[in-house]
Amino acid sequence: MATYDTVIRNGQVADGTGAKLFAADVALKGDRIAAVGTPGSLKGDNEIDASGKVVAPGFIDVHTHDDTYIIDNPLMAMKASQGVTTVVCGNCGISASPYGRSDIPHLISLSVKKTENLGKTFAEFAGKVDAARPAINGAFLVGHSTLRFDAMNLDVNRRATASEIGAMREQLDLALEQGAIGMSSGLFYPPAMAATTDEVAEVAMPLGKWGAVYTAHMRDESEDILKSMDETFEIGRRAGAHIVVSHHKCAGRSNFGRMRETLPKFSDAMKQQEIAFDVYPYVAGSTILRKDMLDRADKVLISWSDSVKGVSGRDLRDIAKEMGCSVDEACDRLQPAGAIYFMMDEKDVQGAMSHSGAMIGSDGIPFDTHPHPRLWGTFPRVLGHYSRDLKLFPLEDAVRRMTSYSARHFRLAKRGEVKAGFYADLCIFDPTTVIDTASFEKPISPAKGIDTVFCNGAIAWHDGKPGGGRTGRALNRQQMQDEAKA
Ligand SMILES: [Zn+2]
Repeated sequence: MATYDTVIRNGQVADGTGAKLFAADVALKGDRIAAVGTPGSLKGDNEIDASGKVVAPGFIDVHTHDDTYIIDNPLMAMKASQGVTTVVCGNCGISASPYGRSDIPHLISLSVKKTENLGKTFAEFAGKVDAARPAINGAFLVGHSTLRFDAMNLDVNRRATASEIGAMREQLDLALEQGAIGMSSGLFYPPAMAATTDEVAEVAMPLGKWGAVYTAHMRDESEDILKSMDETFEIGRRAGAHIVVSHHKCAGRSNFGRMRETLPKFSDAMKQQEIAFDVYPYVAGSTILRKDMLDRADKVLISWSDSVKGVSGRDLRDIAKEMGCSVDEACDRLQPAGAIYFMMDEKDVQGAMSHSGAMIGSDGIPFDTHPHPRLWGTFPRVLGHYSRDLKLFPLEDAVRRMTSYSARHFRLAKRGEVKAGFYADLCIFDPTTVIDTASFEKPISPAKGIDTVFCNGAIAWHDGKPGGGRTGRALNRQQMQDEAKA
């Protein structure tokens, strides 16, 4: 009988495909899952008793802004503690490469704090990630807004010229060749608002050639959401790219219930082209503090402010009262700042999460002083609150939306399933106790019920602490494409 490095015994396997839980031994050798066998059939140098636990693929957080946080904080506790073994970075048009300048515009500072973490090329940036020896993997998109700032010399409140579009396209092409997994856009944000549909489609052209993904924080997630969906689908079609719509929501009280329109529209479009979307399990969103978003929200909490200290985590209305000014005026005084906006309908969030096109992404903003609780809570909240307690979908399906479905759309080869030959990215958790503990009041708090997390065969998290494994890396698109064929 072959002896493996590690055998995980007595657990119930949720293999990531959505198949029913089954009892099995899972054997690891090197960075791979070597075998999945009947209970008691496999022998290892180390054995882990997973009695009463579920053995699932490591979760894939498809929507993050962890681009450089993973370099500065390679243990990635806020994600490893949730069972996450791969973060998809560079969403919403914001990436740390390719970027030839040394200044960091306000929007980009959401995910890049230090100049030395920028990359003139994608290869240079990926080298920095690998050198940090992170505990979990990163897969990286190129941000359209990053390309714009660079090609247009920060003069972004206008349309790009033909030669600027050409320069952006060339930069994207080179980054994809070097291993970036796709392009994201954030037409909702001022630095990309002036970009036309044609501009984005023309910049995105190399995506089709490389089989890379297009992700979109759409121009509008409120009144004009249907129009924005059409625009997104058109860009994907013209570029020959498959699409992931980011953090699908219908924002603002006047748009509550409109999932009745958007979800059938997704279903129809999914018959024509490859489309999916990500969702986070909360009724509040979070981004930079913006006056034009205040009306849309029932409540606004400040997540950070550079100019006024001691306001993080507090209600903007209370801050304004204390300042003796209007909410708009307070908004000005706090800048630059970030905020949490309560702007969604619970029924809509549940509808989106349980749609056939939905996968889970946190959209957590890692550098915030008082972050949205999704940064530490997303995956255990879906498993514990939505699947176990509310029975929104079975546990196997919750796991599928965090693993194989995500891996398939982002082309993360040999990840997202508990299967021989796949990478040993695994999360062992207790299905009876798993739950998020991060709240809007106390957002930095590790989840309960996550027992052991393996990334590439090493332990990234165990028993409430980092496990010491530092085997994560920047996943390379070309390598993954080759592995998928092998
Ligand atoms: Zn976004």
